[in-house]
Amino acid sequence: MVQGRGQGEAVSLRSNSIPVTRSSLPPFEEYCREIKELWETRWLTNRGEKHFLLERALESCLNVRCVSLFVNGHSALECALEALGIGRDGRDEVITTPFTFASTTNAIVRKGLQPVFADIYRGNCTIDVASVESLVTERTGAIMPVHVYGNICDVDSLERLARKFDLKLIYDAAHAFGACVGDRSVASYGDASVFSFHATKIFNSIEGGAVCYSDPNLRAVLERFANFGLSEDGEIAYPGGNAKLNEFSAAMGLCNLRHFDEELEKRERAVKRYQQRLGGLRAITLCGDGGFSDPYFSYMPIAVDSAYPASARDELFRRLAEYGIKTRKYFYPLTSESSYIADSAPAKSTPVAFDMSRRVLTLPLYADLTTSDVDRVCDALLDALGKIDTATIGIGIDE
Ligand SMILES: *Cc1c(COP(=O)(O)O)cnc(C)c1O
Repeated sequence: MVQGRGQGEAVSLRSNSIPVTRSSLPPFEEYCREIKELWETRWLTNRGEKHFLLERALESCLNVRCVSLFVNGHSALECALEALGIGRDGRDEVITTPFTFASTTNAIVRKGLQPVFADIYRGNCTIDVASVESLVTERTGAIMPVHVYGNICDVDSLERLARKFDLKLIYDAAHAFGACVGDRSVASYGDASVFSFHATKIFNSIEGGAVCYSDPNLRAVLERFANFGLSEDGEIAYPGGNAKLNEFSAAMGLCNLRHFDEELEKRERAVKRYQQRLGGLRAITLCGDGGFSDPYFSYMPIAVDSAYPASARDELFRRLAEYGIKTRKYFYPLTSESSYIADSAPAKSTPVAFDMSRRVLTLPLYADLTTSDVDRVCDALLDALGKIDTATIGIGIDE
């Protein structure tokens, strides 16, 4: 599984190496204070006090009417598809992007739905709305776009399209926690916006996720899907699974939320330094450019210029690793290239996504990354680019 990720990647084996990501934690004492009462109440999971407090805190901080918590972002995606009844009227196709983490496509397929892959914009890697429209058929039931890297999709055009064809709109907003379009929270778009609070995300509850929505009737339905399909009076209303967030995770969420502004500030500082050092280069493009919103600070994606052969990206990845700098080929391969899908959906039907997946690399970014760390990454990157044979390519790295 090439696209694999996890804590293994976040832990650097060499003491002087720079990991691609590093989880943020609150001060130890603060977390201890937060979980202390759990020893008295012995209420460890099943919608306890911390769970309730975190939901309300997120509704206020994300400025959205309703938040329901889940054990992780993936389960939140699956429950959103179920709760919104996608496929129940026979329209079982979901138009989505292949330029995303495996979870987005897996959620669609695991719910018995058909993913249909639209292409992406070259500039910010979000779903191309014209491509989405060209794929709408009488079988289309929903659109599932991704605010990839925290770059916000063309939300207004997608909303118009969903309304025109009577489609549900579910955003995979796993990368965009806390982002806004102008003054409007990204969490308030679509029929639902889904977040991940995984340890490697910009806001974490160790594992965790949320569905944000504005129709209060959805709350009970979502909660049932997260708790074996049981209704309040114990009736088994749906074949639901178990996707409940436990109190220790909710407590971590409450602590990290208090430090979220600080987290953003630190990440912004690192991103600004990257932009300063790498912004003018001919050899690479920075893909973190908002396009439809302000730039965000979840990831630091770059793309190798099309004048280079696509193999240049892999060479950069390898050379940076030699310098002790971990990067990620994020997103490579496309989810449409997964072995269970590739036959029916040739990845080359989305040529921009296919090409970008061969050119992108995400550089280290986390709150504790210092300016001198960023400089070390940039020095190494420039050195590695210089060693890639510019003579045969015929351009200089900073022309
Ligand atoms: C992290 C992520 C998910 C899944 O979230 P988990 O909390 O890890 O289950 C889904 N979609 C995208 C785009 C992600 O990056």
